[in-house]
Amino acid sequence: MADLKDKFHEQMKALQKAYASELQVKHRQIKEIYSELQRSDCNVALLQDLHRIVHNIAGSGATLGFSALSKAAREFDTYLKPIIKSNSLPTAGQLAQIGASIQALGLSFENPGLREDIYKPVPMAHRETVNNIENRKTVFLVEDDISLAEMMAVQLGQFGYDVELFDGQEGVTAAVQKKVPAALIMDIMFPGNDVLGFETVAKIHDMIEMPLPVIFVSASRDFTARLQAVRLGGDAYFVKPVDIIEIVEVLDSLTYRDTPEPYRILIVEDEPQLAEYYSIILKRDGMIAEVVTDPMLVMQTLGDFNPDLIVMDVYMPKCSGLELAAVIRQIKDFVSVPIVFLSVETNIQTQLDAMRLGGDDFLTKPIQPDRLTSLVISRAQRARILRSHMTCDSLTGLLNHSTTKLRLDSEIARARRQNSKISFGLIDIDNFKNINDTFGHYAGDQVIKSLSRLLMQRLRKTDIVGRYGGEEFAVILPETDGTVAVKVLDEIRESFLKIGHQKSDQSFTVTFSCGIACFPSFDNATELINAADGALYEAKKGGRNKLILTAQ
Ligand code: GH3
Ligand code: MG
Ligand code: MG
Ligand code: MG
Repeated sequence: MADLKDKFHEQMKALQKAYASELQVKHRQIKEIYSELQRSDCNVALLQDLHRIVHNIAGSGATLGFSALSKAAREFDTYLKPIIKSNSLPTAGQLAQIGASIQALGLSFENPGLREDIYKPVPMAHRETVNNIENRKTVFLVEDDISLAEMMAVQLGQFGYDVELFDGQEGVTAAVQKKVPAALIMDIMFPGNDVLGFETVAKIHDMIEMPLPVIFVSASRDFTARLQAVRLGGDAYFVKPVDIIEIVEVLDSLTYRDTPEPYRILIVEDEPQLAEYYSIILKRDGMIAEVVTDPMLVMQTLGDFNPDLIVMDVYMPKCSGLELAAVIRQIKDFVSVPIVFLSVETNIQTQLDAMRLGGDDFLTKPIQPDRLTSLVISRAQRARILRSHMTCDSLTGLLNHSTTKLRLDSEIARARRQNSKISFGLIDIDNFKNINDTFGHYAGDQVIKSLSRLLMQRLRKTDIVGRYGGEEFAVILPETDGTVAVKVLDEIRESFLKIGHQKSDQSFTVTFSCGIACFPSFDNATELINAADGALYEAKKGGRNKLILTAQ
């Protein structure tokens, strides 16, 4: 942690240094403009150039710790505004005042009132938890029926849970003293003691101080047993025979908290040091930040980076932040991405205009690090929840059909630019109609959930999984060639057929078939989908429970 703090401090100091040398350049530019302004044939545009530089310093200076400089620039900025508005050249009197302001600014260039203390990192509670994603978790299972226990261990293993088995109280109490598992799954009745499970959980609670999620599994449907489980702080109670996917869902909800994907923040700011300043803060606070200093290049980055939120400067050359926001809002994919404007602007009308043009918030420079972080996180979080309702399938939480197709388009565009490969797979559950007919719709839904959970568990974070239709899934594997895709998806096929699905006392297994096609062999989304669909059809015809990669 100490290292991290030092690193942050070092980065900030380097940034101040770079900014200070930029200031020399700006100072020269200002002086050049001023001497041109004194010529009789000068142009009004010069005044605008001057104003832009001054306005920038007013905003960036204070944020980067140059407070005296920023104050001088702010006063100068206020003086210049009405002259610019009148759209005429400055009078002799105004020119004299401008000269005086430049002189005042010059003094602060030499003595900018640098404050280092604004960079002291402030501890934030969430910082440690982000990016701390562990893939596999250990679960203790206490069960005297060895074959049931082993079956459960194998199946939970498919979903990313490593299971350690115990057949009674002694082994498990000794083990939790050495290592606290992510969760405990506890049978209740053991030979010779009908409530040993309860007694064991009570004992473990006394031994360890950390909260330990507990799931009871029992043959008993008794109300008293359920009540006792609740009293012992049990998080769930399942009656045997157990439905593995139900246990996995409970385990997921109990053990996967605090591990959200880091927020992706796009920073659009023409001042490189200032952009870097925001970027360092947001990264320190667990987010992924990308900087664009030329507003004309934003559109390309938007599609590639797919931000959760955009932090946008208002005053930029070529195109203002407000205009850029309006352009972004014209594009369907980005209608709901929140935009937070950053500006020196304290004028309420300008702020209202910004909101009307599609901004969601307005932060006034200088920007305090923690204010930036908390605003960005709360906005990004809300946007993510709203977006997930529009883009995700409600049964599985995977991307829905239309979103999956949009993602395929953007992945292809990216691969084309980067000259890389994509594998695309269509997966369809075999004889699913039979499963519904035999075991009922609920059991069918559970099968769909188990496959979606398995795909999410096994594929990389950068892979995209969508529910393409009822019992059909699409997977997009960027930077993956056909051979690797076949290997990965075939392992998932093997895992899936090992899962024992449960309906009352009956257990059954299910298989799927898969067709794979690759980019650039098929070089647009339609061709890729058709080719994968053709391969899927071949797999079905060839006997199901198969993967076929299209030739070419
Ligand atoms: P094949 O191996 O050729 O794919 O045969 P199949 O029976 O899986 O294919 P078919 O397309 O004939 O049947 C798909 C069935 O999936 C029909 C539909 O009722 C069922 N289904 C679609 N969506 C859902 C769902 O969300 N839940 C459940 N339980 N069933 C669904
Ligand atoms: Mg700017
Ligand atoms: Mg189908
Ligand atoms: Mg099917």
